[in-house]
Amino acid sequence: MELQGKKVLVVGLARTGIAAARFLARQGVRLKISEAKPAQEIEAARKALQDLPVEWELGGHTIQFFGEEDLIVVSPGVPMDIEPLVQARANGIPVISEMELAFKFLRRPLIGITGTNGKTTTTTLIGEMLRASGRKAFVGGNIGNPLIEYVGGPQEEEWVVAEISSFQLEGIVDFRPQISILLNITEDHLDRYPNFQEYIRAKGKILQNQGKDDYTLLNADDPLTFQFAHRVESQVILFSSQRAVPVGCFLEKGAIFFQGGDGKKERFGLERLKIRGAHNLENIMAAVAAGKICGCPSEVLQKVMEEFPGLEHRLEWVQDIDGVSFFNDSKGTNVGSVVKSLMSFREPVLLIAGGKDKGGDYSPLKNMIVTQVKGMALIGEAQERMEEALGGLTETVQLGTLEEAVHWASSKASPGDVVLLSPACSSFDMFENYQERGKRFKTIVQELSKNSPGKKALAHGL
Ligand code: ADP
Repeated sequence: MELQGKKVLVVGLARTGIAAARFLARQGVRLKISEAKPAQEIEAARKALQDLPVEWELGGHTIQFFGEEDLIVVSPGVPMDIEPLVQARANGIPVISEMELAFKFLRRPLIGITGTNGKTTTTTLIGEMLRASGRKAFVGGNIGNPLIEYVGGPQEEEWVVAEISSFQLEGIVDFRPQISILLNITEDHLDRYPNFQEYIRAKGKILQNQGKDDYTLLNADDPLTFQFAHRVESQVILFSSQRAVPVGCFLEKGAIFFQGGDGKKERFGLERLKIRGAHNLENIMAAVAAGKICGCPSEVLQKVMEEFPGLEHRLEWVQDIDGVSFFNDSKGTNVGSVVKSLMSFREPVLLIAGGKDKGGDYSPLKNMIVTQVKGMALIGEAQERMEEALGGLTETVQLGTLEEAVHWASSKASPGDVVLLSPACSSFDMFENYQERGKRFKTIVQELSKNSPGKKALAHGL
């Protein structure tokens, strides 16, 4: 793709937009940037680009500003259906996502991981597996460094492992991973998509350009991902917790098996895993299958899955206080992830949920609440809608702050119980992001531990 001298507009100036702008400037484009936030809210981002000649539009996006471009690159945070983009497309201007732009310059084989939940965990695991096998790998995309940043560098790695969100997939044209992984699809982001079908369509785009030499890894237990098995030209590899699959990974007699195209079966033991939950077995199966395709030695795959400690804010054990275990699952930002998190416990759970509502249906949580949840504290903007959908199934309270919720949950907990923050909502009503919410939760728990009866007894020399 020749960009020298072209007029290129970047829409949205968060981390990805900045990286895209830097990359484009190095290609010698005439750069414009449009950002919805006003100047005072994006000072740091503007500073990061102060050495570049840029024509700016701040505080909104206008049709006039989008009018005469050769190319428009859209950041994942910006909806593709805003009016200036609709108009630009109607005028024949190519509108692509940063992922598509990066792909045009990518010279390494790509493993792309998407799905509603488990992307970061699976992406991280695959990166670890490649590296532990002595293969250099870049891990990034929707986590860590944007892909566009990578393609601007020397590209020395053997593999590129990229987490990919549905937003990034919306603006692709030729984007084509050698290995695509579609982990699962449950309702999410219905505040951004007109309906669930559109969200499913966006997720499915990861497979659309794959050919017969590529691999498509699908969750055979999820009908919404499995439907693609019959629609792709690529080689389909499946993973399943419920049944043996012809080629791929499955659970049998408490172990994971990988069956290759030659029918040979290999066993991976689960006895020494550090991460918990059936959903993490799905993530591990997807990662093992990808590792096998890449030729990683099986003993390395076994070692990496055993040593993997899990990631911060994903079913992260924080502390035990007087026999009650506190878990931070702040990244449980949709209903599907909370269902899986609740399924990971045999213990009675005091659940802290709520945050910014995304317009989805909370009722898939009902069964797990009835069987697993001893009490539920709801916080944030979503609390009314959640109470309407889920109230009356267990003792439920609406509270003003995360701190009140933790104190309430801990006052209701008995030794052997679990207090779990797993919100089913995004965090933006009360926090900067899910990381800040999770960190705040951990701080509150630590403060609680200082005042626990056990600690007090110790302080008094009892
Ligand atoms: P993502 O990057 O897709 O958000 P993460 O690996 O960060 O996924 O996990 C986010 C949350 O989703 C976790 O806290 C856990 O509750 C849930 N989760 C993780 N893996 C899965 C899975 N395979 N299926 C369903 N839920 C999952």
